[in-house]
Amino acid sequence: MAEIQVGPLDSMLRYDGTYGPYGGAFIPPVLEPQLKKLGEFFDEEVRKDDFKSEFVKILKQYVGRPSPLYFAKNLSDYVGSRIYLKREDLNHTGSHKINNCIGQILLAKRMGAKEIIAETGAGQHGVATATAAAIIGIPCKVFMGAIDVERQALNVRRMKLLGAEVISTDLGSKTLKDAVDAALGYYIEHPDSFYLLGSQVGPNPYPRIVGYFQSVIGNEARQQILEEEGRLPDHIFAAVGGGSNAIGLFSGFLEDESVKIHGGEGGGEGSLPNTAATLSFGKPTVFQGTMSYCLVDDAGNPIPSKSIAAGLDYPGISPHHAYLKDTHRADYFPITDKEAVDAYKLLSKLEGITPAIESSHAVALAIKLLKGKGELAVVNLSGRGDKDVERDM
Ligand SMILES: *Cc1c(COP(=O)(O)O)cnc(C)c1O
Repeated sequence: MAEIQVGPLDSMLRYDGTYGPYGGAFIPPVLEPQLKKLGEFFDEEVRKDDFKSEFVKILKQYVGRPSPLYFAKNLSDYVGSRIYLKREDLNHTGSHKINNCIGQILLAKRMGAKEIIAETGAGQHGVATATAAAIIGIPCKVFMGAIDVERQALNVRRMKLLGAEVISTDLGSKTLKDAVDAALGYYIEHPDSFYLLGSQVGPNPYPRIVGYFQSVIGNEARQQILEEEGRLPDHIFAAVGGGSNAIGLFSGFLEDESVKIHGGEGGGEGSLPNTAATLSFGKPTVFQGTMSYCLVDDAGNPIPSKSIAAGLDYPGISPHHAYLKDTHRADYFPITDKEAVDAYKLLSKLEGITPAIESSHAVALAIKLLKGKGELAVVNLSGRGDKDVERDM
């Protein structure tokens, strides 16, 4: 069985938080001491054997890792390539998000945090955070735009059931961006709280923290494909929203030059402004604390994104992916809403696996690029699609 491993630390982490010209921390001075303390604490703590063993134990006994690597024979026959699915959909709470939440909650506990705060749009990160807070026993506040509170009633109930307090904000457009502002305001006023960030975005040190905890995905997948096939894959695929599940898989293969790396973005309707494909259509811009690509208008101001997948519907992107794109180590393609829905239905029928609509973007991209090639690939199935079944797609 594959070993659950994070890291390797030193080759993965950019201690100054920069990825070429990207990354860094563009934050109000009042936040500087908190983030500096968090970065230093993280760098020290994750080296400790007792931290690693506690993290790995929870991933194993509670999350259910290692997640299987499944040979999708029917899909493979359909596409004409050998395709394996990395089953993050089988994790407790239904996606890869829990890996990062467990890692950060352990940091919070060891830092003596009095309270966990998080923001959420569709509620998936909120649920994963409330779950992690429940097992460690730290009070948790989840900030959410008032419109999202209404749209995502089921996840709101779930968070409350898990013991979290859901704080609805009436600021601005009453959605995710406004929830971020509300949570940041609270964080500035309560320095003994811990801001648990859900994707590989935001200022240093978050991108390196999230990338590190999600690296379990790629480390396992690399061992598993070697066990099954005796060789590395020709291609790997992941859906890209903020970039956390993708960096989790990619980090296991970045040094393997023969492995081609591909990310499927939330293409929406296929072009600006109705898209969330940040790397495909955005420009380098400072947005929400970091320098990376961002969707902008003609004047260079960030614009709202649009995607059928709530988890991909974000105008920013991880600075690490910006760097991988510019250096051509990975390539990124927009997948339209329609292509994603087709892949969602196809995988359900062919394999009896209903992927999250987010993950369906990775499946759709794999089908496109692998058709008739006879090559070997791993596709990250970042989450399960139960949450999407109710929608008419
Ligand atoms: C949140 C989410 C994503 C997108 O977030 P990343 O940080 O880009 O991974 C993708 N898939 C699922 C299932 C999600 O819940």
